[in-house]
Amino acid sequence: MGLTNHFFFYNCKPKDLSRGGWIIKDNVFQISTTLTFIESHNRIYNWLNGEYVEFEDISHPFLHLVKNKSENFNKFKYDNSFDDFNWLIDNKFIVSNHKEVQDIILNRAKELDSSQNLHLTLLPAQMACNFNCPYCYEDKKQKSRMGQNEKEIILNYINKRADLKNLQIEWFGGEPLLGKDFILDFSQAVYNLAKFKNIDYRSSMTTNGFYLTSELFQKLVNLNVKAFQITIDGLEENHNKLRPLSNGEPTFKTIIHNLTEISKLKSLDFNIVLRTNFNENSDINGYIEFMKNLDLSKDKRFAFIFRPIESDLNDLQNDVSCSKVESSSLQKSYEDKAINNALEKGDLFLYKDIGSHSCPASRENALILYPDMTVRKCTVALDNPKNMVGIIQSDGNLVKNENWDLWTLNTNSIYNKPDCLTCSFNPQCLSSACPLEFIDNMNIACPSESSNLENLSNSIIDFIES
Ligand code: SF4
Ligand code: SF4
Repeated sequence: MGLTNHFFFYNCKPKDLSRGGWIIKDNVFQISTTLTFIESHNRIYNWLNGEYVEFEDISHPFLHLVKNKSENFNKFKYDNSFDDFNWLIDNKFIVSNHKEVQDIILNRAKELDSSQNLHLTLLPAQMACNFNCPYCYEDKKQKSRMGQNEKEIILNYINKRADLKNLQIEWFGGEPLLGKDFILDFSQAVYNLAKFKNIDYRSSMTTNGFYLTSELFQKLVNLNVKAFQITIDGLEENHNKLRPLSNGEPTFKTIIHNLTEISKLKSLDFNIVLRTNFNENSDINGYIEFMKNLDLSKDKRFAFIFRPIESDLNDLQNDVSCSKVESSSLQKSYEDKAINNALEKGDLFLYKDIGSHSCPASRENALILYPDMTVRKCTVALDNPKNMVGIIQSDGNLVKNENWDLWTLNTNSIYNKPDCLTCSFNPQCLSSACPLEFIDNMNIACPSESSNLENLSNSIIDFIES
């Protein structure tokens, strides 16, 4: 074989074409639009399914076709065999026409939006927070909270969805753990309901980690809240400056203590992504060294991601924000260093499913709920009037307002931008990376990741190989 091939994510098995219904004619084959060619490594990555090939023989006919961007070509043999060709067909590197791939993407987008799925983002304390981070715009002093009444309303809403099969509850804020009693009570009720109705129920939380003691953590995990994102902004001094309590007190030691205690719960199955926001002044290299020496760095349940602070606030520019030019190279260097220090990288597995970089705001089945039971779509523009799309009434009925269609009709934009038809990242972003940008500016925005797919796909392959 001239290519090293890999099966992962979907565990596809090569089809036996002699038994399939496909009639293979000459001159009917095309290269899939969903491939990225990594010239430096003679690798090709397929964004449709996470499959990749690495060519040992640089005279391999498929490598030649890709390099020459060939439009139509015949079935070919390599090493006197159709094995490589058949594998490339089975794994959609080669297609009989581009519509074949577009149909797979559209069908998956429809599945994501199916009424069998429900994605609820709950803000039990609205945007209230116990931290006062200088780069955060949210109104942290809000008093409204979810309670018994809201629990009944949301359960009524879930119960009305007769064909529900998959329920994803995401806890968000502000700081959701300001409503921890509600979260535990509600999660128990949903856990019971899902069991009774045979619904696949998963739950996740974005928290600052300050209140996340190992005792509370165990209760949450036992109620299926198993995925967490916690932000630590570098070493102690930097973190305490960027993420102090609302009274200015430090938070670093408490969060690290909580995480260390959690890592001792060896039998628990969970996943914590530690996010680090950085600017040009952050000592992230020092932070990685610090993390490497903690026990949790050897624990595959913990993973690390790095993101630049790109604040537009003029008064913060010199203090906490980071220029876009600097940020992408810094991010790459931190990611490389984290991998070299055996830290788990948190975001590469994100790409395994179609739609990983599409925003749920465009889906009919994705709702963000405030304590007053008003419904929103976008977790960023929370105060934008267009983001208020309806309300759930006490009987559990969702009443949509005129803004609803602004968001959900965006899914129809999937191929409105001609570039998307030939863009290899389309399976991941579904032309729906940011519906807000589409609503405000009629622009189908590309996710920043799409600007350097060669590097990104190469990192994904390295990650899988390691
Ligand atoms: S929105 Fe951008 S990244 Fe997404 S498919 Fe279209 S061109 Fe590609
Ligand atoms: S800003 Fe865009 S991508 Fe982010 S949540 Fe809102 S709509 Fe989605």
